[in-house]
Amino acid sequence: MSDRSERGIGERRDDLDFPEEIGILPVRNTILYPGLIIPLAVGRSGSVRLLEEVNKEDSFIGILTQKDPAEDNPREDDLYHVGTVARIIKTVKLAQDNYNVVIQGLARFRATKFIQYDPYMKVQMQVLKEDAPGDVETEALAINLKATAKEVIKHMPNVPDEAASMIEGLTDPGQMTDLIAANMEISIAERQEILETVGLNARMKLVLRHLTHRLEVLKLSQKISSQVKGEMNKTQREYFLRQQLKAIREELGELDEDDEGLDEFEQLAKKIEESNMPEEVEKTARKELKRLKTIQPSSAEYTVARTYLDWMTTLPWQRLSKDNLDTKNVREVLDQDHYDLDKVKKRIVEYLAVRRLKDDMKGPILCFVGPPGVGKTSLGKSIARAIGREFVRISLGGVHDEAEIRGHRRTYVGALPGRIIQGMKKANVRNPVFMLDEIDKLGRDFRGDPASALLEVLDPEQNNSFSDHYLEVPFDLSKVLFIATANQLDPVPPALRDRMEVIELPGYTREEKLFIAKKFLLPKQLQEHGLTDTFLKFGDDAVYSIIDSYTREAGVRNLERRVADVCRSQAVEFAEGKTEPKTIAEKDLAAVLGPERFFSEVAERTGVPGVSTGLAWTPTGGDLIFIEASRMKGKGTLTLTGQLGDVMKESAQAALSFIRSNAKMYGISEDFLKEQDLHVHIPAGAIPKDGPSAGVTLFTALVSLLSNVKVRHDVAMTGEITLRGKVLAIGGLKEKTLAAHRAGIRRIILPERNRKDLVDIPERTRDEMEFLFAQEVNDVLYYALLNPPASMKLKKPKVDPVRPVPRPPGAGDGDGDGAKSKRKEKKPAEIRAAN
Ligand code: ADP
Repeated sequence: MSDRSERGIGERRDDLDFPEEIGILPVRNTILYPGLIIPLAVGRSGSVRLLEEVNKEDSFIGILTQKDPAEDNPREDDLYHVGTVARIIKTVKLAQDNYNVVIQGLARFRATKFIQYDPYMKVQMQVLKEDAPGDVETEALAINLKATAKEVIKHMPNVPDEAASMIEGLTDPGQMTDLIAANMEISIAERQEILETVGLNARMKLVLRHLTHRLEVLKLSQKISSQVKGEMNKTQREYFLRQQLKAIREELGELDEDDEGLDEFEQLAKKIEESNMPEEVEKTARKELKRLKTIQPSSAEYTVARTYLDWMTTLPWQRLSKDNLDTKNVREVLDQDHYDLDKVKKRIVEYLAVRRLKDDMKGPILCFVGPPGVGKTSLGKSIARAIGREFVRISLGGVHDEAEIRGHRRTYVGALPGRIIQGMKKANVRNPVFMLDEIDKLGRDFRGDPASALLEVLDPEQNNSFSDHYLEVPFDLSKVLFIATANQLDPVPPALRDRMEVIELPGYTREEKLFIAKKFLLPKQLQEHGLTDTFLKFGDDAVYSIIDSYTREAGVRNLERRVADVCRSQAVEFAEGKTEPKTIAEKDLAAVLGPERFFSEVAERTGVPGVSTGLAWTPTGGDLIFIEASRMKGKGTLTLTGQLGDVMKESAQAALSFIRSNAKMYGISEDFLKEQDLHVHIPAGAIPKDGPSAGVTLFTALVSLLSNVKVRHDVAMTGEITLRGKVLAIGGLKEKTLAAHRAGIRRIILPERNRKDLVDIPERTRDEMEFLFAQEVNDVLYYALLNPPASMKLKKPKVDPVRPVPRPPGAGDGDGDGAKSKRKEKKPAEIRAAN
């Protein structure tokens, strides 16, 4: 019964004229419903006899299903008693006693009495007419049944779509129910139950229950199968990716020859072995490797663990370079690289000598303090060269976050070790010279205090087990020679300052710069540009001109750049074939470096009344400022320009008020503000300026303007003033003095209260300067104004202007406190007379 084309739907007919007795065709595993056409194979002798008989008479047969399909010779009890009356549509004889028949179910019947078994079975029968009420419930059930059936069909990919339209096409609810029942995958007993249920509504409900159950099963199984499919896809995808990755790495040559045949994990294990880690660290690394093996290679977690192991295996856990602490050699190398800085070099040599004797590098950290370009970095490099160590440098400028020093924990996305460990990796040995640049520019905020992390780095008691958040294992920094640099010491946190041995490099004088240029910068630049001094020389006048007119700095960085500019331009000429030797003179500079950038402004600026020269402190080493005052017709307003901060503006107001209340004394008309406005401007405008220390300079400019008396051009001044005319102390004296010295000014007016700070000024500069001390504004004017008229009634200052400079104890050359200064002493009267 496999010929599907023989299946179909026919008419149900329970109204025909059926006989009272009927021959029975017992069937196994099949229930025929009325209205359906099915094929049957017939082989049992009784059944064959029945067929032959019926075919002759063209009458009906009864189909009854066996309860037990294994039974070959069923009797009354072996059969269900409700079955279907059928008509034979077609008979095909396949062989002797072997037929294929196609039969059509017509109506339900009940076998009321079994009357014969031979030669075939025969029963008395009663047709069971369908009990179809045709009510609303039937209608509703029919709709429901149809919809559910269609839904089921949708979930069964093997059932053709026509099945749905076939069901749609049926109008007889009874027939539809039977059709659906015939096609459901249920047991024979369940089918029989449906067959026996004559009441239509009850039958429909029964079928619907089966159908709904079926639908649920189908849905669930579909869900399960799509899940399984998904998982299958994922593992397959991973497999492909991994194969691809392997191919790519092979192509890139990342699987190197030694490692050929080793997989990734074996390579890592090998690296761990080779990196010579301390035992504890190795344990951690191996643990991580073990964990790595359990992680999906495609996951982010894998990359994190992998990167970690890469760091662990590349750090110089034990690698050391050999030191050369021969003091003579060290001194020689330092001398080769740097001019002068005798004191500095001496201290470096001492420092290293102690290290040599004591072997452990414990002890204070060197800290070079000075303006840019004075050779802090190059000294560090030089030290490394001298003792034969690697040199690494990290800049701490703008580091706010502790994690930048100490690293981020690995739980952060993209975490890395901090700068210290990164520097160690770069050094690739455990004992480099490690320069911490710009330690004064460390910030601190809510992200933690980097200074405290740095403290641990620099503490010889702790730094043999420095813990980086990323590594999570201690790293030994105790063999590192740390050198810090800073432009100023003040902003360096005190705890850090305590750890450090400060070595100051305050900047160079013109003469020193000339020497450095000739001895170091020039040869270096010539070499870098492929030139020799037989072809290119610099005249002293040219170098001085670069120092004075093209640079303004405490160090020699820009000087070196300008020298490089000249070398470059000459290299071009040389390459173009002009090979005759050349000596650069001052007049040649303009053609190469352009017009002069800085003028010796002082004399020119102060050529009119109303301009005075002040000194300002800047982080790059101090600078001159000029304060210009002018007046115009108006109503007595004071305008201040040049990006002045509030404190500076207030200083100007205070100076003006003091002049107004003492106008008479200075020979100024008391109502000078009645018909004129005043304007004070401080050029070099883009730079913001603030602070009270320009008080005396503002005051002097205003008095000079109002009294029409010029200010001396060879004096610079600094000091805060009060409303009562007192002069108060200021800060940054050393930088200001050096700036004045650089600009060629040799006389400075200072608050008397700063006299004690003179010890901070480098000795050589101090010896060349004259310091004029002021207690009150009278003293300032006394020193600053050029030929004041007698009407001004300036009193001789009460304090001695040029006392011998007190020296720090132990320093110096017999020019101690109380001894007579070698400098020429000039009395104020002489100063005035000199002009
Ligand atoms: P810093 O680190 O203090 O800002 P650098 O070390 O970068 O300064 O120095 C700038 C340049 O000046 C370097 O080329 C350095 O060799 C040179 N230099 C500075 N001081 C001296 C000196 N005393 N002798 C020779 N060269 C020097």
